[in-house]
Order: sequence, then C-alpha cells, then structure tokens
Amino acid sequence: MNPPSEPATEPAVLLDAFGRRAEDLRISLTDKCSLRCTYCMPAEGLAWLPATAVLSDDEILRLASVFGGLGVRTIRLTGGEPLVRAGVAGLVRRLAGLRPRLELSLTTNAIALADKAEELARSGLDRVNVSLDTLDRAKFHTLTRRDRLADVLAGLAAAQAAGLSPVKVNAVLMRDQNLSEAPELLAWALRAGYQLRFIEHMPLDAEHLWTMADMVTADEVLEVLGQSFRLRPVAHRGHAPAEEFEVLDGPDRPGWAPAPDAGHRVGIIASVTRPFCRDCDRLRLTADGQLRTCLFGHAETDLRGALRAGATDAELAELIRQAVRAKPAGHGINAPGFRQPERPMSAIGG
Ligand code: SAM
Ligand code: SF4
Repeated sequence: MNPPSEPATEPAVLLDAFGRRAEDLRISLTDKCSLRCTYCMPAEGLAWLPATAVLSDDEILRLASVFGGLGVRTIRLTGGEPLVRAGVAGLVRRLAGLRPRLELSLTTNAIALADKAEELARSGLDRVNVSLDTLDRAKFHTLTRRDRLADVLAGLAAAQAAGLSPVKVNAVLMRDQNLSEAPELLAWALRAGYQLRFIEHMPLDAEHLWTMADMVTADEVLEVLGQSFRLRPVAHRGHAPAEEFEVLDGPDRPGWAPAPDAGHRVGIIASVTRPFCRDCDRLRLTADGQLRTCLFGHAETDLRGALRAGATDAELAELIRQAVRAKPAGHGINAPGFRQPERPMSAIGG
C-alpha cells in the first residue's frame, strides 16, 4: 500500500474554505442492517446496494491509506450495520497496520457484538459506540422491530470486557415511546460504566417522516433528565459533537450507585437545535465509495469510480482535497428551503 505521492511542499492536512481541518472519516461498510429501527428505515428494509457496487476490503484499505496521508487521524466504521459485513475483524487488522496509525472505532447496534468484541479488540479496534434506545424488551421490539434486546446487552458487556472503552451508548428519544425513560437509561449507563449520549432525531429517515414538531429537542431531554439528576455543563467541547454534562446528583432510589469509572457524564448531540457545523472535522465514505463532506449535503465525489478507473494515489488525494474545499459552511436544516438528502442515514453511514 503506497502512501499518496505528494509534492514535499504540500501540507498533509485537509482544509476547507472555512478553515476547518477534516481529520475524522466515517467509512460505511454496508447499507444493510439486522434491525429495522422505526426512525431509520421501513419494516421491509430498503433497496440494498448490489454487491459489485460496494467497496472491497482492498479498496477501503487503499482509500484509508490516502486519507491517512492527508491528515485524517480517526476512522469510524459504520453502516447500515457494519457487523453484518463478513470479515470485519480482518479489515480492522489491515486498517490497524496502516502508518501513520489511525485511531479505529466502530458504531454498531451490537446485535452481533458479543461474539466479535474480543476478536475486534485483538485486531486493533480501539473503541465502540453502541446504539440502544430503551432497556424495556417490549419497547425495544417495537422500536427496532426485532426482539433482540438481550443480544445488545450481551454485546455491550463483551465490548467492555474486551477493553473497547470508553464504551459509548447512543440513544435516540422519541416523545411517545422512550423520552420518559431517559433518566432510567442514564442511571443504568452510569452504573454500568457506559458513556451515554442522547442524539436528536435528524431529517435522515428513509421514509421522510421526520418533522421539527415531533422531534425531541436537546432542551426537552435536559428538562426530563433535570427531574432526576443535577447536571452541570462541561465547558470544553472541541470537535466532539456531544455537549457534555457532569452528573452531580442522581436519583434517590434503591440500587443507585454509579460505577466509579463512568466519568459521571452524559452527552447530548443536538445536530438540529444546536448545530456544531463550525467545528465539524468529519468526512464520510459511503459503502459504494462516494465521499460526502456533510451528512446533510447533496454533493458526493465518486472515489470508487476514480479508483476503479485506475487513478493514482495522488489523483485520489486531489479529488479528496477538491471535495473538502467545497464543504458547505453548515447543514442548513433550519433554513427555509432545506431539502433532506436523497440517501437516508443508514445508506450514508451514521
Ligand atoms: N447500525 C448501526 C447503529 O445503529 O449503531 C450504525 C449505523 S446507524 C445509522 C448510526 C446511528 O445513527 C445510530 O446511533 C442510530 O440510532 C442513529 N440514527 C439513525 N437514524 C437517525 C436519524 N434519523 N436521526 C438521528 N439519529 C439516527
Ligand atoms: Fe439499523 Fe442502525 Fe438504522 Fe437501526 S439505526 S435500522 S440499527 S442502521
């Protein structure tokens, strides 16, 4: 694997027109999924990408190497559900062999994590983010259309035991379904030693059912949590999408005992009501090899086409630089005329 051959004077950074440096790359390994979360995709699934359209392991390695040579420092594997792809641990091992060494993490629904966590950790995976919206089996079944809560909890425990830490848990709250469960989720996460973050529902659902009025806002989440916990904002945020809050006091209930290493924090990722576009350092590579500089944008750069047409590393690097230069200032969700992207979250890579 050759690093991109660049002129010696070219700095190894990806700067956009607004002075932001792109250092974090999300790579979608597949658009398929083992769940059918109601806020993400329909019960019958979606029109999946044909296998030939999906980047091979070799192609992902080649592109990751080019991105690494351009100053990208972290790679998050995602999807769809990344663990439905065959051979993820092998891919992780190869990614971990790239130099400079990239930090490697994975976003997963954890259905298949119990069996794979240890091998993934041995292969060089550094951390996982697990998506879990409820601890109630029936509610989980309704929200994901699959009765698999026990598998997710086992996956979380396996990730922690394998040292894939800090284990982060991401939850999307829906007003009529799990909003009232937010304090219980936080108490559970603190006790177990997982870092919980609540994510605002974004206009990225496959069925385009999202509305601003239905969305649970960060303010609402804080209000519900405030009924059970005393929270204090943590000042420094950097490029992290989550606003963090220190949990000062917990619920006065039997069994309340946060784990000592839990950090006693909770995060809120409020992409809609408190956008963090000014600090965005992200890029996304879809499973079919399209580079996106904004989750909500419409522009894609066809890296797969260039790769398969025989582009050199330097040519791929130039395509990436051009795309990053054109990264929009912000997502514009709150602006009149906002148009939801054609691809849903599961097909872009969350
Ligand atoms: N399948 C994996 C999972 O669920 O973790 C990875 C992909 S999933 C698209 C990544 C994250 O996006 C999950 O935490 C999920 O809850 C979240 N998500 C999906 N659709 C969303 C939406 N419309 N708004 C906000 N978050 C969403
Ligand atoms: Fe699958 Fe993740 Fe979408 Fe749920 S949120 S349907 S787990 S891709």
